[in-house]
Amino acid sequence: MDNRLVLYNTLTRKKEKFEPLNPPFVGMYVCGPTVYSDVHLGNCRTFVSFDLIFRYLTHLGYKVRYVRNITDAGHLEGDNDEGDDKFAKKAKLEQLEPMEIVQKYTLGFHEVLRLFNTLPPSIEPTATGHISEQITMVQHILEQGYAYEVNGTVYFDVEKYVKEYDYTVLTNRKLDDLLNNTRELNGQDEKRGRLDFALWIKAKPQHIMRWPSPWGIGFPGWHIECSAMSRKYLGDQFDIHGGGMDLAATHHTNEIAQSQACNHTQPAKYWMHTNMLTVNGTRMSKSAGNGFLPHELFSGSHPLLKRGYSPMAVRFFMLQAHYRSTLDFSNDALDAADKGYKRLMNAMALLPKLKATGKKGNSDVDALKQRCYAAMNDDFNSPVLIAELFEAVRIVNSVYDGKLTIDPSSLENLNTLMQHFVHDVLGLLDDNTGSDDFEKLLEVIIGLRNEAKQNKDYTMSDRIREGLNAMGIQLKDSKEGTLWNKI
Ligand code: AMP
Ligand code: ZN
Repeated sequence: MDNRLVLYNTLTRKKEKFEPLNPPFVGMYVCGPTVYSDVHLGNCRTFVSFDLIFRYLTHLGYKVRYVRNITDAGHLEGDNDEGDDKFAKKAKLEQLEPMEIVQKYTLGFHEVLRLFNTLPPSIEPTATGHISEQITMVQHILEQGYAYEVNGTVYFDVEKYVKEYDYTVLTNRKLDDLLNNTRELNGQDEKRGRLDFALWIKAKPQHIMRWPSPWGIGFPGWHIECSAMSRKYLGDQFDIHGGGMDLAATHHTNEIAQSQACNHTQPAKYWMHTNMLTVNGTRMSKSAGNGFLPHELFSGSHPLLKRGYSPMAVRFFMLQAHYRSTLDFSNDALDAADKGYKRLMNAMALLPKLKATGKKGNSDVDALKQRCYAAMNDDFNSPVLIAELFEAVRIVNSVYDGKLTIDPSSLENLNTLMQHFVHDVLGLLDDNTGSDDFEKLLEVIIGLRNEAKQNKDYTMSDRIREGLNAMGIQLKDSKEGTLWNKI
């Protein structure tokens, strides 16, 4: 396997050569959604970014086990073990069972990711399906002396942990700063240290989602589910752990502490974090009220939108930014992405119509292919890859217009390159003309127009041409017959 892949590791704060622990196998764990409401476009950006990573690793020949969980329990409103349970609150509001909430929003999440053409993960474990694994892990941490129980709740002992391990290893923050920014404990707190966090929480009488445990009836803390499920399916140590950047400071920091305390090893060799989707510079989030839902974007029904955009144009918009850069949402940026996406799809549709010449052509497809791999090998740089693919578009259009010649083997390489990078790696499909039915329908219409021309019914043939033109489909009469492409 020719692998020159380099990726940015949050843990070491530098780009590193990708060397999996047990090639050709790769274990990748990504924190999934909390399914108590619809996913917004920001959430989707993170999952599209990891889809790109999953696709490229698979394309390189790795056998990837991609685990992405569903958080369906244990997530309180505050990240510091405070506030109501998000599921119970929503269940009350919608007058449903908490598991009806989970089912409803899990189905919605899958549907949205299907529209964005993301590949399903290899395993999608749920927190509620892994309560016993979480209890076992909490027991191990207690046995190792890094946790304590107070009145049915088990806390992770950060003060004890920092004596042996670097608690802020992932973010490189100063422990003193962290302490100064955390609420001081008061007489009512059960915690011993202000950075301590709950591994298992005693259920109050009104708490609906509850399970028996060695410490009484309760429910797991949010962070323990990812440690327990990644350990179960990928082992004590695996290759990549991912999630949005906002998870690094608390959730992932605590995951590392739990795994170290339990297994005495860092869970993941590489930590990867995606940057945020913003609206006018502010992070898109449910709580900020700027979290558009994907279907509002597709239909154009959100007040901030001028019009709707297809899921594939939105996917293209996301991939035009590097996963570690912020991406700001605007109508203009979406319009530009829509145009770019259509140009790329137009070239894909022209590809099978290109004719090679016998002699050596004057297009350099090999060098282009090298540059495409170089872009993706440099920390999955999809914007540079897309820029290179526009060079391929230029070649396709020039050959189609007869301004450039291409020999048979270069044409075959160009075809393979476009299929690999546009379809397999970027996961872009033609959401307009991709279906066989569309093409067949167009062939019928073109046939009718040709008949009209033969019968000298130019009014009719012009009407058909203009009608198609208004839909963005251009006809071109040539010696080989009538060709079409999208404008
Ligand atoms: P949640 O459902 O809130 O647990 O979030 C699911 C995933 O979406 C997490 O990996 C978050 O980091 C990520 N996420 C949340 N907001 C954004 C955003 N504005 N842009 C990109 N990713 C986000
Ligand atoms: Zn997680």
